[in-house]
Amino acid sequence: MDQIKIGRFIAQRRRGLDLTQRQLADKLEISDKTVSKWECGNGFPEPSLLLPLCRELGITVNDLLSGEVVAPADYQQKAEENIMSILQENRRRLALTTMAGISSTLAFLTLLLGVAIYAEVFSLAAKIAIVAIACVVFGLGLYVAMKGEQTVGAYRCPHCGKDFVPTFKAYVMGPHMLLTRRMRCPHCRQKGWCHKVLDTDGD
Ligand SMILES: [Zn+2]
Repeated sequence: MDQIKIGRFIAQRRRGLDLTQRQLADKLEISDKTVSKWECGNGFPEPSLLLPLCRELGITVNDLLSGEVVAPADYQQKAEENIMSILQENRRRLALTTMAGISSTLAFLTLLLGVAIYAEVFSLAAKIAIVAIACVVFGLGLYVAMKGEQTVGAYRCPHCGKDFVPTFKAYVMGPHMLLTRRMRCPHCRQKGWCHKVLDTDGD
């Protein structure tokens, strides 16, 4: 997906309809800053806004993701390319968030080890400061990693097979093993070990 191209396409369709950024934003009940960000290629509409946006612009989601009005003959091929690129993007984001978790853990351990090894070199105040920094780095990295993992893809309920994105709280509180997490399914209300899935069916 080419965000710049998509942004230009949104702007072009909006102008074609004689709408200001503000007017389009009002129709979608969002801020005009958000529309401006999309059009500059600095952001992408949230999934819940995709259909309303496309409806306002008179295009399909496939057109939007392609950054152009797709000719009927190319429609299926473009749709397949777009689905593949979303899956790859999800995988990349999941890898990035995992890296954030690992590198902050390493930074944390390195700082603690540094204090332990050079115990005589540092004053007590310096030791406390370093440990505090280590904890902040660790906390931030953990948050980024968890936030990313919570929002990338979805979890699949083992009972009804439906996918859902948990709230951050449910995600944090759920006991887990690797990418499986014990949570309550919002569809069938049963608790179970839910598997992380990237190819969500959006249900
Ligand atoms: Zn379920």
